[in-house]
Amino acid sequence: MIDRTRLAALYAREQASFVSAHPRSARAYADANHLFGQVPMTWMNKKAGAYPIYLDRALGNRVWDLDGFEYIDFALGDTGAMAGHSPAATVAAVQHRASDLGGITTMLPTEDAEWVGAELTRRFGLDRWSFALTATDANRWAIRLVRAITGRPKILFNSYCYHGSVDESLIVVGPDGEGMSRPGNVGEPVDVTVTSRVAEFNDLEGLERQLAHGDVAAVLMEPALTNIGIVLPEPGYLEGVRELTRKYGTLLINDETHTFSAGPGGATRLWNLEPDILVIGKSIGGGIPIGAYGLSAEFAASALARTDLDLIDMGGVGGTLAGNPLSMAAARATLENVLTDEAFEHMIATATLFTEGVQAAIDRFGLPWSVSQLGARTEYRFSNPAPRDGTESNAAADGELEDFLHLYLLNRGILLTPFHNMALMSPVTTAADVVAHHVIFEQALGELLGS
Ligand code: PMP
Repeated sequence: MIDRTRLAALYAREQASFVSAHPRSARAYADANHLFGQVPMTWMNKKAGAYPIYLDRALGNRVWDLDGFEYIDFALGDTGAMAGHSPAATVAAVQHRASDLGGITTMLPTEDAEWVGAELTRRFGLDRWSFALTATDANRWAIRLVRAITGRPKILFNSYCYHGSVDESLIVVGPDGEGMSRPGNVGEPVDVTVTSRVAEFNDLEGLERQLAHGDVAAVLMEPALTNIGIVLPEPGYLEGVRELTRKYGTLLINDETHTFSAGPGGATRLWNLEPDILVIGKSIGGGIPIGAYGLSAEFAASALARTDLDLIDMGGVGGTLAGNPLSMAAARATLENVLTDEAFEHMIATATLFTEGVQAAIDRFGLPWSVSQLGARTEYRFSNPAPRDGTESNAAADGELEDFLHLYLLNRGILLTPFHNMALMSPVTTAADVVAHHVIFEQALGELLGS
């Protein structure tokens, strides 16, 4: 249905106009000779244009690049900036902590941490909280704890999940239905099937088959997949996961780093889920690095009672800068003033407009695509019906089409998350911003489909 010759020609045209409009970014990239892959982090080479656009400044849901272009930002740092860029309340708290009071990192607790813990309990229900600087680390430390407490060696993941650069999680369901290393896995420390098991999302039978081995300490999952498009849970699936984990003595860790978009208490509160551990990161610091994990009171007590576990020094759980005063001040201000219950109402209403507009365009052009929304986050996928699991969703990827749409939008002032077709709404994203996207999206489809 997509004419590939036409797609390639349009992409080449967009690439030429990108290059002619972005000479300063071109120079910055060409001159970046001291960086591994020419970028501060290798994934910044995931770009639809010939090179990355370089940031000049960002505020609210707007980003400006070095060449002077302004963008409506629906990527929001892939959730790190879900609160909007440099929200005033967070900036004020960070300045106060760093400058008026002083003390960015000290190895001493601040009272802000208890405030944040109490607020996370109010939102998500878990009783005891501990902090990291990234969601990756929060996941890693949660994994160590569940292994220690259950005495079981393996963690179960969903195929094509993403939980950060966590060794155990880089597993997919192979052609024979069993686990294998995710393609591209960089230098795995041991064969991933030694540490992990895998089941498809929405597949309770597959899950039970794996749990029945009796060696799974915990299932670590997103309540909806968000890193291979959005894959929503089918009715009864999440309840089934909880029943099966209880049946086989396996703990349940919900990673709400992205699914927090579902509402002020994430998918856990929206869907009344009962995880033993909950992980979150990125957004709650308003852009300042933070990760967190919450434990049930029972689990926390059993971990603290284990005098053989070194939770104080070098036992493998912790980081020097974790829980630092700056992160805690940022999280307190962001949760208290920015990512509030009211803000979520607005963000979700805005995302609903986004979803409806994309669906209308899909219908108008008769495209075999689908769009899925999880609260403030929405995403379209090049298949219909929407994929049911990670493997199906991975198969629906279309890199050429995605690059064309991303670049077409970027050239006209709209940023989507580079890794897929995700749009996230901040508290200051407006209906007008959404309409601006839709006008250009439809224009792109019109040119591509020749109608
Ligand atoms: N969990 C989930 C669900 C994520 O999507 C990500 C990152 N995309 C992470 C964890 C890791 O976050 P970070 O890179 O900040 O450690």
